[in-house]
Amino acid sequence: MDSKVELLGLSIAELEEFVVAIGEPKFRAKQIYKWIYQKREHSFYEMSDLPKDLRYKLDEIAIISIPRVLKQKVSLDGTRKYLIEFRDKKKVETVVIPQSFDKSGKYSLCLSTQVGCPIGCSFCATGLGGFQRNLTYYEIVGLYLTSARELKKKIRSDKEDLIANVVYMGMGEPLLNYEETIRSIYFLNDAKGINLGQRHITISTAGEVSGIYKLAEENLQVTLAISLHASNDELRNELIPLNRKYPLTDLFNAVKYYIDKTNRRVTFEYILLDDINTNKSDADSLIKLVKPLLANVNLIPYNEVDNIAYQKPPARRIEMFYNWLVSGGLNVTIREEKGADIDAACGQLATKKER
Ligand code: SF4
Repeated sequence: MDSKVELLGLSIAELEEFVVAIGEPKFRAKQIYKWIYQKREHSFYEMSDLPKDLRYKLDEIAIISIPRVLKQKVSLDGTRKYLIEFRDKKKVETVVIPQSFDKSGKYSLCLSTQVGCPIGCSFCATGLGGFQRNLTYYEIVGLYLTSARELKKKIRSDKEDLIANVVYMGMGEPLLNYEETIRSIYFLNDAKGINLGQRHITISTAGEVSGIYKLAEENLQVTLAISLHASNDELRNELIPLNRKYPLTDLFNAVKYYIDKTNRRVTFEYILLDDINTNKSDADSLIKLVKPLLANVNLIPYNEVDNIAYQKPPARRIEMFYNWLVSGGLNVTIREEKGADIDAACGQLATKKER
């Protein structure tokens, strides 16, 4: 690591302090901010509205450490998976998924918040690899900038911004890296920078109850998604070890509190595992849990992972389970499968395979 000043993640006020400290006029800060977050540029030499001598000076004393794309894979359905490396050589995977539902040519970006994951869900490739470290807020923002830039370059689009939605659903448990995750959201949302609307952001948690209570107090317009996957404690303990710390009663008390406080609709994610959580009794207890709440259920047919024995249910079972929930009065969607051919689908991210 060098001793250059890191500019990624500084607010405009902090950048102003920095430029004044190096003897430059304050307004340069806004120009630099615009280059980083709107034009996605991290080479000072390319910042064409800055005087040349300032560009050289900045290059000597400062750095904008946007992480690097090491590899990318493109799925037949247009999903792209990037293997991205930070300055300390730690790597995560990030996925951009075409939004076929609105034909806009825009994408959803699935962001990671940790390198690896400490939760260790039994169906997830990330969990298998263990936990390495939290990402900082500016590394999370860096993942956004790198992905957006790479996507634009590769599909040669002249659209200003190709990423319409961000889901914090990649590697890691966002609410276990709470402060950095929230700070990254404010950064993505900043109208003078990336300017992504809060309503276009979803945070997904495996059920980190203390984080749900904190999030309820933030006054954010983001969507909260809960990875539920089981409607009884015995099975949920097996699938998501965090359930032993926060069993379903605690989780649902937190979700009720969140809904009362924010009046925002919550999504329950439910991975469909053949012969594990797709029986009529599972549907019945799921209906009992979710029906009283302002909530949707999103069914995710399992994406199979090497060395993990779970399987995706046959199509007729998926349909049956969906119909049980709908006739029980729930709002249900089935997630369209994207990126499974390049191991980019939900639960399939694992940098280990790529090294
Ligand atoms: S599913 Fe999410 S919370 Fe569970 S191990 Fe994988 S990344 Fe972590």
